[in-house]
Amino acid sequence: MTKALFLIDSYLKESHATVVSVKDGKYVTLDQTVFYPRGGGQPHDTGKLIKGNEVYNVVYVGKFSGEISHEVDHAGLKAGDYVYCILNWERRHKLMRSHTAAHVLAALLNKGTGALITGNQLEEDHVRFDFSLEKFDRALLEAYLAKANELFGTDVPVKWYELSREEALKIPGVVKMAKALPPDLPALRIVEIVGVDRQADGGTHVRNLREVGKVELVKTENKGKNNRRIYFKLN
Ligand SMILES: [Zn+2]
Repeated sequence: MTKALFLIDSYLKESHATVVSVKDGKYVTLDQTVFYPRGGGQPHDTGKLIKGNEVYNVVYVGKFSGEISHEVDHAGLKAGDYVYCILNWERRHKLMRSHTAAHVLAALLNKGTGALITGNQLEEDHVRFDFSLEKFDRALLEAYLAKANELFGTDVPVKWYELSREEALKIPGVVKMAKALPPDLPALRIVEIVGVDRQADGGTHVRNLREVGKVELVKTENKGKNNRRIYFKLN
């Protein structure tokens, strides 16, 4: 089982690793990795695996049968190879900022309106956010984004740690983004934005809300009776 270094330290940008297996020349598993595999609404990382003078670009990272698989742009790696992993940190850091911003907005909307978050997809340049809410207008959303932006200007720590499943499920609202909840694990990883939100979550986040910067509303859509969709982006 690949050791997921990004869950322990989301700020790790590089690491060494040993190739465990290679399928079809370009699907590589490692003993440990800094690369986040697509899932829970967060896109995969990109970057490089380096072996000697040879650079393999990591173009996709996914989780297949519980294993993290790195798709590289050309063949050549084999089991037992020693590689150096380098993340495309610029992309990852944006995703960490927008992921953390999505938690804050979800928490504020949920607290203020009772809205449930039904979907959440981060992209490198924007976030798509679905929730159920009867009353809906752009002014209301702008007000919530303004509230969130106020928080992003303050010193609020973000922490992550494990809790037993039993303890975790006692936290009110811990599964607001239900599809991000890992199934049947004895311990859940909790992401806590101190005083704002606690979520069961396997994604990567910034350490302090100050690091998010500011967000702005891009557009809003009605997707049926109670289904709303908004797009926002970092600026
Ligand atoms: Zn998250």
